[in-house]
Amino acid sequence: MQYVSTRGAAPVLGFEDVLLAGLARDGGLYVPKSWPRFTEDDIRAMRGLPYSEVAVRVMLPFLGGAIAEDEFRAIVKDAYATFDHAAVTPLVQLDQRNWVLELFQGPTLAFKDVALQLLGRLFDHVLAKRGQRVTIVGATSGDTGSAAIEACRDRANIDIFILHPKGRTSEVQRRQMTSVLSSNVHNIALAGTFDDCQDLVKAMFNDTDFRDRMGLSAVNSINWARIMAQIVYYFVAAVALGAPDRKVAFTVPTGNFGNVYAGYGARAMGLPIETLVVGSNSNDILARFFASGAMTAAPVVPTISPSMDIQISSNFERLLFDLLDRDGAAVTAALNRFRAEGRFEVTQAQLDRALAIFAGNRVDEDATLATVKAVWEESGYLLDPHTAVGVASARGIATDPTVPMVVLATAHPAKFPDAVEKATGRRPALPPRLADLYEREERLSDLPNDLAAVQEFVAARARAAREAA
Ligand SMILES: *Cc1c(COP(=O)(O)O)cnc(C)c1O
Repeated sequence: MQYVSTRGAAPVLGFEDVLLAGLARDGGLYVPKSWPRFTEDDIRAMRGLPYSEVAVRVMLPFLGGAIAEDEFRAIVKDAYATFDHAAVTPLVQLDQRNWVLELFQGPTLAFKDVALQLLGRLFDHVLAKRGQRVTIVGATSGDTGSAAIEACRDRANIDIFILHPKGRTSEVQRRQMTSVLSSNVHNIALAGTFDDCQDLVKAMFNDTDFRDRMGLSAVNSINWARIMAQIVYYFVAAVALGAPDRKVAFTVPTGNFGNVYAGYGARAMGLPIETLVVGSNSNDILARFFASGAMTAAPVVPTISPSMDIQISSNFERLLFDLLDRDGAAVTAALNRFRAEGRFEVTQAQLDRALAIFAGNRVDEDATLATVKAVWEESGYLLDPHTAVGVASARGIATDPTVPMVVLATAHPAKFPDAVEKATGRRPALPPRLADLYEREERLSDLPNDLAAVQEFVAARARAAREAA
């Protein structure tokens, strides 16, 4: 299996190099040169299999032999053993038509665990084989840092440093990060804002000498292996609902377009997906694109579904590559125009091709809260605000009523208790695995908003650096 960059000017790479590279050298994102295809019989044969076995079958073609099947099976089983539910991603019925696919049964209660639990282990495996170490650095406003920490904790060849703005995350968010006491996990409480944290991380990557000495790397949402891991649950859910002999539709609460792009991949691999509904909150750049064919920048507004508060969806570039007939120069031109003018558009024919698969919908704050309340009253099921955007998007769009609709549930309601309580009057309890979170010991380091101080801190602790010295 070979991977090409969406900008067309980076080397073609195999799986291991794509995994470790993340972003392509031309600034593009890696995608498979061609999608592996499953026959209807292949898909039928997935019925009744455990999650990890479907995962091995779906992902193996993407590895191109880089990891032996038995070794890969062991890695996959180990990754999903960290989940709280035997089905890993259980399906729950909401009403006669709509189902919820719970992607939040992992260690940090959000769907990013599904990809990151595997990614951390894949990194470690490939690094061990190559005798290398990496230093992961990242910034978080509170929401996603814990998933990266849980992915990297105790990995033999990875050290992770996560910067969060001191005093500006919720207590649950901070404790989910700082109560991980593994020696390779370093939480930095920065005297500054989230933007300061991001600027420092960028500055560390831009310091090429520092970057090379530390073996800096990232596990961000553009990494191909994250998409690959997310394709699996589309197969698991669709097969449980009758695929390939029955079509299935999905609705995805969307931010960076990674999750819904994985659904596009599953469809390209032969899964009979009727529609992919892209659910947006008030940050509706994608909904406006699907309505008009124009991508137009707008300022980010904070919402009660903060993981979807984005200005530009980085993974959309992967879809754009296909809409522009895999012409890397055309993708580069469109994105340069977006950077310069805050806008690019596709032709009506290109938009029509997207609309044959995707539909966009936008849900505002009131409708999100009303949906949390309505579903609680109808079914006694608590939705988190991100999933509620999904349910409202699914219900607000006309699709074939005989096709089951699966809404991806991207966070546990206890992760966003204030919004849930506001809508229903009920404060969701943390699941047993986190019930003692408030009693756990914390470890974190206070640092000033100063690049030299942060670099010194990292250099003193990163094992990759000690080896090079
Ligand atoms: C990251 C995230 C999303 C958005 O997923 P994308 O792949 O970025 O579209 C939605 N909901 C939650 C809870 C998330 O953490």
